[in-house]
Amino acid sequence: MAHLSSSCPKCGKSIRPQDLHCPSCLTPLKAHGHPGITIHYAQDNEPLCLTCELHADNSCSQAKRPNARDCTLYLDREQLAEAMAPQRPSFRWRSWARRYSTPLLLGSLVLLALVVSLLS
Ligand code: SF4
Ligand SMILES: [Zn+2]
Repeated sequence: MAHLSSSCPKCGKSIRPQDLHCPSCLTPLKAHGHPGITIHYAQDNEPLCLTCELHADNSCSQAKRPNARDCTLYLDREQLAEAMAPQRPSFRWRSWARRYSTPLLLGSLVLLALVVSLLS
């Protein structure tokens, strides 16, 4: 699985998102010294390509495919699928009740008046 957390992929020590190198073991974390180009590293024995979207859709033309141990173009398939999944709209009763408080109050009064008139 690819390195996506805020710990060094080599030594596991804590790193900041803008670190170019790991402050502990000096592993390069960004390519070409550019903070926007993250170097992703394979973990364990599994190459990055196995979980990469560009490998899955056959759009990668990198020479190191399919056995890349590090890559700047890596796209985590799982993360991508999560990001693309349709979000269920959250329905919040409290904000709904606040928004329609006046019609709710009037409706309740009408209902109460109707019940009282039916009972008398
Ligand atoms: S972009 Fe990198 S990790 Fe993805 S398939 Fe190509 S070489 Fe492998
Ligand atoms: Zn390190």
